[in-house]
Amino acid sequence: MNRTLEVNNLIKRYGSKSALEDVSFSVKEGSCFGLLGPNGAGKSTTMKIINGIIEADSGNVDVFGKDIRKSADDIRKLVGYVPQEITLYDKISAFNNLVFFGEMYGVKGKKLKERISEVLEQVGLSERAYDPIHTYSGGMKRRINIAAALLHNPKLVILDEPTVGIDPQSRNHIFEIIRLLRSEGVTIIYSTHYMEEVEALCDDITIIDNGRVIVQGDLNELLLQYATKAIYLELENQLEAPVIPGIKNVSEYKKGWLLETDHVLNSMETISHTFHETGITVKALEMMRPSLESVFLTLTGTTLRD
Ligand code: ADP
Repeated sequence: MNRTLEVNNLIKRYGSKSALEDVSFSVKEGSCFGLLGPNGAGKSTTMKIINGIIEADSGNVDVFGKDIRKSADDIRKLVGYVPQEITLYDKISAFNNLVFFGEMYGVKGKKLKERISEVLEQVGLSERAYDPIHTYSGGMKRRINIAAALLHNPKLVILDEPTVGIDPQSRNHIFEIIRLLRSEGVTIIYSTHYMEEVEALCDDITIIDNGRVIVQGDLNELLLQYATKAIYLELENQLEAPVIPGIKNVSEYKKGWLLETDHVLNSMETISHTFHETGITVKALEMMRPSLESVFLTLTGTTLRD
């Protein structure tokens, strides 16, 4: 499979502060790649380097087989970058904002008008096209920001934390846009600190923390390899941790206990049997879905939200 992006050994410092310490990953053509990490992990810095907005101190980035430092102009024609900050003119309409961005990307005249109506349709805001941006919600502005990055039909779309601080409806729209782009063969790079978004959208992921890669690979394989297999148990009036054969570890979780086991179904049967016999009421007995949260916990010993 072809690689749309290769990032090798990126190092970046801001003064004495180290933001990236040897970050490498690659992105397959046509895939949705998730760059996941807590705030301050180095996601935006990585995205800005890939887009040629800032330069790495060392390391290199190839986009569509070309070095970003040598072929920035060629690469820019193929890439749509959606920055974290909203970059729209508040006083003018979405349509006029899109004219401005389209011309900046070299799309003009009739072709630009056609593309504007297509991208407005894609982001679900055709009806608001002529309203000034200051009348839009935060989520709607974000969708127009995405529309602006799509005008020149990029083959790679890079979104830096596109759902931070927006309403659920806009979030769903953004997910739909990403799925649509993927179905058209566009490669997506999606950065976020929301694990559930990566789980919902991405094929391959790289988790970074403190400027270092913690783990990377196929999402499902990572879940299989690192996610804890566990059961959630909630009992009536249970103050002490339950002791159950075959359970490797017990920890407090929500209103009950998280029981780690290699044999989830057998353990559930044992638990149900044990408490039935002792007459203790089981309020909840649930299989925990393997999640990226537990992958992160297994690998770092902390939660992503810490
Ligand atoms: P993320 O996008 O994952 O939240 P960033 O790439 O924005 O992380 O930041 C990585 C680290 O670099 C953080 O410690 C942040 O404070 C620092 N940093 C980012 N931009 C600058 C800057 N312009 N000047 C100084 N430090 C910065």
